[in-house]
Amino acid sequence: MRDDVKQLLGLQETDQRIETLEAELIRIPLLQEAAKERLANDTQALATAKSDYQTNEIAIKNVELDIGTRRNSIDRLKVQQFETKKNEEYTKLGVEVIRYEGQVDELETRELELMEVADGLRANITEAEIALAKTQGFVDEEISELESRATARKSELAESKTNREDKVAKINDEDLMDTYARLFNKREGNAIVHVTNQRSCTSCHVQVTPATYALAQSGSAISHCDNCGAILFP
Ligand SMILES: [Zn+2]
Repeated sequence: MRDDVKQLLGLQETDQRIETLEAELIRIPLLQEAAKERLANDTQALATAKSDYQTNEIAIKNVELDIGTRRNSIDRLKVQQFETKKNEEYTKLGVEVIRYEGQVDELETRELELMEVADGLRANITEAEIALAKTQGFVDEEISELESRATARKSELAESKTNREDKVAKINDEDLMDTYARLFNKREGNAIVHVTNQRSCTSCHVQVTPATYALAQSGSAISHCDNCGAILFP
């Protein structure tokens, strides 16, 4: 292989690595965001569990208020019963007392039911908290793993860029460098490629002419693919 083509090939490897590293450094913050979003479902589930529990607590308070109101009425009716001289009124007040006592019984049953519901809802909160903590653990781990990966890639990128400068300095041929840069962009990183024994260019996969192939083999001049222009080495 010609020395200049060999140097360009080395440069191309570095440039390909730089492109890979830069792409990964763009992707890492996106992956971190995606990891954080996985917390959203669990956070929402916990908020819902808490809100369900609160709603039930309010229902219990309301039942307790209703029981209190009935008990006050019962106390008031009993005082009236005690003060009345009329038998008929005494009986009527007694019926009212029984009616309110019946309501208090019903409300107390209702309160017990709601308290049982509260136990279940409290358990849901605990469950949601555990699930969130677990996901949080995974997400924290993933984010920190991505963070160290980014740090490693940044330092490798800096090294590769220095490495690139050294290689460019050694090539010291502006025209050749321009050709290389143009081909590298046009051929998506495959500017300097192998031409197979079947004369196939491995950048565009088209067969080159025997003359082009012979030139790539002899190395008397730089050989370009007849189709895509890539620089060929045998
Ligand atoms: Zn080609």
